[in-house]
Amino acid sequence: MAHVKGLKCRECHRPYPAKPLHVCEFCFGPLEVDYDYAALRRVATRRAIEAGPPSIWRYQALLPVEGEAAVGHACGMTPLLPAKNLGAALGVRECYLKNDAVCHPTLSFKDRVVAVAVTKALEFGFPVVACASTGNLANSVAAHAAEASLRSVIFVPADLEQGKIVGTLVYRPTLVAVDGNYDEVNRLCSEVADKYGWAFVNINIRPYYAEGSKTFGFEIAEQLGWRAPRHIVVPAAGGSLVTKIWKGLKELQALDLIPEVSTRMYVAQASGCGPIVNAIKADSETIRPVKPKTIAKSLAIGNPADGYYAFKAVKESGGGAEHATDEEILEGIQLLAATEGIFTETAGGVTVAAAQKLIAQGVIPRDESLVISITGNGLKTQEALTGVLPAGLTIKPTLKAFDEALAAHEAETSGA
Ligand SMILES: *Cc1c(COP(=O)(O)O)cnc(C)c1O
Ligand SMILES: [Zn+2]
Repeated sequence: MAHVKGLKCRECHRPYPAKPLHVCEFCFGPLEVDYDYAALRRVATRRAIEAGPPSIWRYQALLPVEGEAAVGHACGMTPLLPAKNLGAALGVRECYLKNDAVCHPTLSFKDRVVAVAVTKALEFGFPVVACASTGNLANSVAAHAAEASLRSVIFVPADLEQGKIVGTLVYRPTLVAVDGNYDEVNRLCSEVADKYGWAFVNINIRPYYAEGSKTFGFEIAEQLGWRAPRHIVVPAAGGSLVTKIWKGLKELQALDLIPEVSTRMYVAQASGCGPIVNAIKADSETIRPVKPKTIAKSLAIGNPADGYYAFKAVKESGGGAEHATDEEILEGIQLLAATEGIFTETAGGVTVAAAQKLIAQGVIPRDESLVISITGNGLKTQEALTGVLPAGLTIKPTLKAFDEALAAHEAETSGA
């Protein structure tokens, strides 16, 4: 299976071997996995993919893993749901949700990238996997490391949600809460990676890690019967997911697995941390770092590593971008829950709210297919809804108590 040629600089296109490298020595551009597409045409057929396992590994030919995948056998192939109720609420005819709130094992799309990164870390013989995380990556690296019997060291900003802390600690990693924001955590981790020689999934293994995000786009296309939708709204933190969904769709097109792609990509970020959206709106390819201040902590990266490439993907596709305020994020979470019965985390609230604005503005037309990317689970960011939702009824265990409470409740909710 010699479909990986090696790595290649995204800027000067110099080739590199498929080693744990991530930066070009000549121009400091980021490295990316380079495939032999002619060889891929023979192995990556619709029939071969459809006959594969019901996980991201059905696309293994298009991922940088040569042998047996070590982890992630239940990861991916999450539902693409026709969202009639949400579509009606937003006023669009053909609306789908790609629901990675139920991705395995840790209920966010990060399982896709980590399954690839941890498999690679094992291949390269690293004794320790590590990451700088805004929360979901922490959960996923700790879980996959446990499955792979690798030690993990996880760095997070100290102000993370409780669900993300507990959902990391349960796997018994070394968890390091850093008194600083993600960008400070990430800077520290670059130094730790150099000094300790660990596999930081989103730093020195990043070229491999990032490829896992392509599967989000592959699945959308396969689940639509091998075609790409007209519009996809994607939340962005570092900007990798949106960049790689775009790359993945282009690969499917190049391999004649889908017809010509006319998909428009849209980035959703919080108003309190929207450096990529700012750049797209200003039509300026310079990403100006910001200081994050938002309840969407999983998206709170002020200096996004792939911001420039996310910008390029959006521009190349003819898409756009929109922000969501904290209030709009909470409304987005509740709208998705009320219409489709799906509880997403704050990042999903950002995506729903941004999609809603883009539709209202006429940027996304009402009569074209739209996929809204739900990338994480609401049970992990419960504190965002504290004091927002109405309380339930509390009663004594008698029918009389229930009758009275129900009557009072109905009077209250139907009344003025
Ligand atoms: C990390 C994350 C994203 C964004 O990922 P990037 O590839 O860094 O842009 C989106 N949604 C959720 C829930 C995340 O945890
Ligand atoms: Zn270069």
